[in-house]
Amino acid sequence: MNNTVPEIFGSMVFNDAIMRDKLPKDIYRSLKKTIEDGRDLDIAVANVVAIAMKDWAIEKGATHYTHWFQPMTGVTAEKHDSFISPQHDGRVIMEFSGKELIKGEPDASSFPSGGLRATFEARGYTAWDPTSYAFVKDGVLCIPTAFCSYGGEALDKKTPLLRSMETLNEQALRILRLFDNQTVKRVVTTVGPEQEYFLIDRSLYEKRKDLIYCGRTLFGARPPKGQELDDHYFGAIKPRVQAFMKELNEELWKLGIMSKTEHNEVAPAQHEMAPIYDTANIAIDHNQITMEVMKKVAKRHDLVCLLHEKPFGGINGSGKHNNWSMVTDQGVNLLEPGKSPHENAQFLLFITAIIKAVDEYQDLLRLSIASAGNDHRLGAAEAPPAIMSIFLGDDLDAILKSIESGMAYSGHGTSRMDIGVHVLPNIPKDTTDRNRTSPFAFTGNKFEFRSCGSSMSVSGPNTILNTIVAEALRQFADELEEAEDFTDALYDLLRRTIRKHKRIIFNGDGYSRDWEEEAKKRGLLNLPTTVDALPMYLEPKNIELFTTHHILSEIEVRSRYEIELEAYAKMINIEGLTAVDMTKKEILPAVNRYICQLLESAEYKQRLSEGRNGKAYSCGMEDELIALLSDLEDKAFSQVNKLEELLSRLNSLYKEEPDKLKIAAFCRDSIIPAMQELREYIDTMEINTDRKQWPLPSYGELLFSI
Ligand code: ADP
Ligand code: MG
Repeated sequence: MNNTVPEIFGSMVFNDAIMRDKLPKDIYRSLKKTIEDGRDLDIAVANVVAIAMKDWAIEKGATHYTHWFQPMTGVTAEKHDSFISPQHDGRVIMEFSGKELIKGEPDASSFPSGGLRATFEARGYTAWDPTSYAFVKDGVLCIPTAFCSYGGEALDKKTPLLRSMETLNEQALRILRLFDNQTVKRVVTTVGPEQEYFLIDRSLYEKRKDLIYCGRTLFGARPPKGQELDDHYFGAIKPRVQAFMKELNEELWKLGIMSKTEHNEVAPAQHEMAPIYDTANIAIDHNQITMEVMKKVAKRHDLVCLLHEKPFGGINGSGKHNNWSMVTDQGVNLLEPGKSPHENAQFLLFITAIIKAVDEYQDLLRLSIASAGNDHRLGAAEAPPAIMSIFLGDDLDAILKSIESGMAYSGHGTSRMDIGVHVLPNIPKDTTDRNRTSPFAFTGNKFEFRSCGSSMSVSGPNTILNTIVAEALRQFADELEEAEDFTDALYDLLRRTIRKHKRIIFNGDGYSRDWEEEAKKRGLLNLPTTVDALPMYLEPKNIELFTTHHILSEIEVRSRYEIELEAYAKMINIEGLTAVDMTKKEILPAVNRYICQLLESAEYKQRLSEGRNGKAYSCGMEDELIALLSDLEDKAFSQVNKLEELLSRLNSLYKEEPDKLKIAAFCRDSIIPAMQELREYIDTMEINTDRKQWPLPSYGELLFSI
């Protein structure tokens, strides 16, 4: 890189500075206004923007454009169209119209729609989200868009997110007006997703079908050294990884993504990248691009970037900490404890609303992070448990307690702490949460939702967060707008809310068994698997929440429920088939060869013993290993046959069983345990088999070879 970072930063993005530079003043102003007010773009304006965008993109080497969107698969989708337009004389010119910019019509029929397709037309359309800048990636102008069916049903992850940001804005503004803020125009949610990932050598990766097809290892004995020494976390970064990170940063910077922090994570070969936070929809677009760029850059370094939540059994998995807050257009972070009593009362109201929201909608938060991959990680004593709770830290906790009880806050002198009258003591960033066992932690001026899986789009979790907080704020605003004495009413509201919802606050160790017990006593939900969590979509209170805030219609909710159940079952099916394939075609034949080798050795020794008049060579090792491995071979063989049978049952279920929940439950209750049992035999075989004969790279090689 010869250019400085500020020179390359955003060089592939049609950002505000470029727009100001390339667009006529009135067009720029009109576009800006549309973006700020969240209204539809006028076609005349769009035409001018499209031409400027195309000319700029061509300068950056683009020949195609695409409406870049986020279907329910969780990855991004793009269909490339070139700018070429034929002329009468056989030549072409490069064209791009306002209509093409605003709206696209990809065929929706191959994207998951969860029954929406049957109800509505197969066609879908994409619509530009002008708040997220267009960018050029691999010679293609990418226009961030939302994806809907022709009837307007959301078929993607962005549409509900944008709707949830809108409803949160509305409700938060009502609250701010109550605090006499007449000038604030907009509240947006901010998101900073910390992305964890593994890097492994590409040639080793290619030798493992499980990694190729499933993104995780289905077999693998523990290596002699794991993460027990904690020597990887924040350790010196190896040169090959350093080279990867350097290029990753450059690529991300070009795309205007503010990659900020990089370090090694707890597990060997595990790393993290944290960007500087941004407005939620932009941060999420950027995170989707980041995951894609990570994979691409890794390839160039003969590495593979694994984003799966649990690539290796017994080794920490990967998550995505979703840092979340709300900020006004005046730059005020609503979760920043203030300096004046007035600001503090407002801060406490927002905190209390979040406590209420998380308690009342634990089920939705839990299901927002549910996936086959994340099931391996949650509650595995390395990641937050599947039980939702909030960490506030001792100081904030004490303040809330004093409000609830009406007693003096000890850090606050002698008098009763009156919000709106007294200045709150400083609330320093609490460090008692170092162990990071809380799923939802207040970290100074934002909440960190830690249960998100590394490979997932965080659109879902943020849509839920925005919506449930909006609902709590709506109820608060309804009550306070009617109040005669605002301060009294606020005090009373906070007190009641804290009393009612304090059970969700937990500042202790979320990994401990005791917490599971304690949470049960408190009546908190514990939904250990995806199959337990997804049905919560259909709870009447949740459907009501989605529909009253216009986030999802009932049909859309049901379609999401089905899509996610289906995705779960499909993943488990792929894993099962892969396990069968590897066992039958690679592992059992290899072990069998090794047994033959041992038999030959024993036979040879025996022959020698007889020939050398009485001098005997022991075959103890051979005999024992042959017995052990033959036994394991038998067990693995009958287990793999059983698994195959279960998979064919699953196949029939697909055709016969209309209830997708039953299919998913079959995967969880029959297929996963069968795979687990098979793995135990195979991992024991691996430990007892010649390394040269074992057909798969070992955990040791995968984790320590870079
Ligand atoms: P750590 O969690 O490792 O201690 P930080 O607290 O510094 O690290 O920040 C982690 C992430 O939180 C970063 O991506 C950062 O940009 C993001 N973040 C910081 N402030 C906010 C905010 N107000 N809203 C959303 N994300 C934020
Ligand atoms: Mg963090």
